[in-house]
Amino acid sequence: MNLQEKIRNVPNFPQEGIQFKDITTLLKDRDAFRLAIDMLATPYQDQKIDIVIGPEARGFAVGAPVAYVLGAGFVPIRKPGKLPAETICHEYSLEYGKDSLEIHKDAIKPGDRVLVVDDLLATGGTTMATVKMVEQLGGSIVGLAFLIELSFLNGRQVLDGYDITSLIQYA
Ligand code: AMP
Repeated sequence: MNLQEKIRNVPNFPQEGIQFKDITTLLKDRDAFRLAIDMLATPYQDQKIDIVIGPEARGFAVGAPVAYVLGAGFVPIRKPGKLPAETICHEYSLEYGKDSLEIHKDAIKPGDRVLVVDDLLATGGTTMATVKMVEQLGGSIVGLAFLIELSFLNGRQVLDGYDITSLIQYA
């Protein structure tokens, strides 16, 4: 199966010049969804992952099933004001704009082995913010896994030194 064919490209969304990679078309296809989750989880099967972290909101749809397959827990990263208990915050840059992210302060224990999962790697800002918060809480980043990588935005350079898996690349 060609997973790339399951992704819908939406030009000029959410603003002029952005080629938005819509994964809803992949998620609703039962075979493509299962294959994508299995392919994301497989490289980390023997890595003793304690926690999978997924940034809001597409990181939930992809990260939570990967956590289930790995027998790990799932921790959400959210936009400010959404998490109910005590949080730490980090500001980051998007391919389009700026934003902040939060994680619960007690979500990661020192020494936890963490896998970050998101739908798409663009500039790497979202993932770097996530990595910094995990490390601030004492977690150890084992890997970063994405359905899609926009290679031309060089997110890998921002995330230099970390183990990165991506299933589909756009050059
Ligand atoms: P970045 O922080 O630049 O790596 O951007 C990654 C985040 O922004 C991911 O959580 C994506 O969901 C979203 N994103 C950025 N660019 C796109 C795009 N072209 N299509 C779909 N989602 C995108």
